[in-house]
Amino acid sequence: STHIQLAARPSGWPTHEDFRTTTVSYGPLEPGQVRVSNLYVSVDPYMRGRMNDVRSYTAPYAVGATITGGAVGRVTASTDDSVPVGSVVSHQHGWSDIVQADASTFTVVPELDGAPLSLYLGILGMTGLTGYVGLTAIAGLTPGDTVFISGAAGAVGTAAGQIARLLGAGRVIGSAGSPEKVRLLTEKYGFDAALDYKDAPVRDQLGALVPEGVDVYFDNVGGDHLEAALDVMNDGGRLALCGAISGYNDKGRTPGPDNLANIIVRGLTLTGFTLGGHLHLGAEFAERMTTWFAAGEIAYDETVVDGIENTVDAFLGMMRGANTGKMVVRIAPE
Ligand code: NDP
Repeated sequence: STHIQLAARPSGWPTHEDFRTTTVSYGPLEPGQVRVSNLYVSVDPYMRGRMNDVRSYTAPYAVGATITGGAVGRVTASTDDSVPVGSVVSHQHGWSDIVQADASTFTVVPELDGAPLSLYLGILGMTGLTGYVGLTAIAGLTPGDTVFISGAAGAVGTAAGQIARLLGAGRVIGSAGSPEKVRLLTEKYGFDAALDYKDAPVRDQLGALVPEGVDVYFDNVGGDHLEAALDVMNDGGRLALCGAISGYNDKGRTPGPDNLANIIVRGLTLTGFTLGGHLHLGAEFAERMTTWFAAGEIAYDETVVDGIENTVDAFLGMMRGANTGKMVVRIAPE
């Protein structure tokens, strides 16, 4: 099978030289193992952090090892009755077309009616749950809150915007990096207003969109966006610090906001989180999201790149904003 591995630790923006494609051959199945043909593999921003050799919430990728991460596939061989041949599974074995491993590392998921299985990597999976956790457990969203979401046209952002609305937010405002994405936010995803951060500094645009101030800021971007949000937060505002993608490929240190004193004088709460600490909310999320989804209340977009050989390009494209909604790599047709 074809695996994509880390060949070298990138400095700044990764290049193709930092990855290599390897053929891995598996032996016959051992007892309790399954073999899976992947349908989709995920490319996610957190993977950039794991390419560095620094302490983080997950261990760095080893140079010479397959890039692990979310994937969905179909079981083609099994010696474990709980994961039978033909079932669809989600797993964390990452960037390969075929994987063979212990049955316990795969989760059987139901096939979806009229929706692609890639949604288990997006709105029905990790990025959807991230939006839910950030708004509920982290930001304590209450009905009527004005919510600002950065990276709003991405996987987490489109989930967060819709979940905020469904949980009773007042106004929901988003930012994204193109006129098409900004239009989509208001026309398809129910945002009340949106800004293109490439038009003018966020700081110069945000205030006019939120004359009432912001109660909850869902931060996917950090940097200029966090600084602009700190300008407009209401007293007692809550900031869910989910990601800071604007700095993930920086070589040096990223500058901090110049207005941190607002945290004090406005009594703000900034809470960083990673999903790993909140997986117990997965069942509650799945129940609510499945209900919303079945009721037709959830829109989604995916940018689909075909072929395991294009996984690195899909990853780099996502880091640059080539995706609308979730970026996924299709390995084989469903
Ligand atoms: P997205 O689908 O949002 O894709 C990344 C997007 O980031 C791009 O499409 C691009 O959109 C935007 N972007 C890139 N560079 C910049 C920049 N300099 N300024 C503003 N926007 C930029 O990815 P995800 O939804 O998977 O992840 C979104 C965020 O959530 C990331 O920060 C990620 O690390 C974080 N995350 C955190 C988790 C946690 O447990 N805490 C779990 C999952 C994700 P555009 O065209 O608008 O620029």
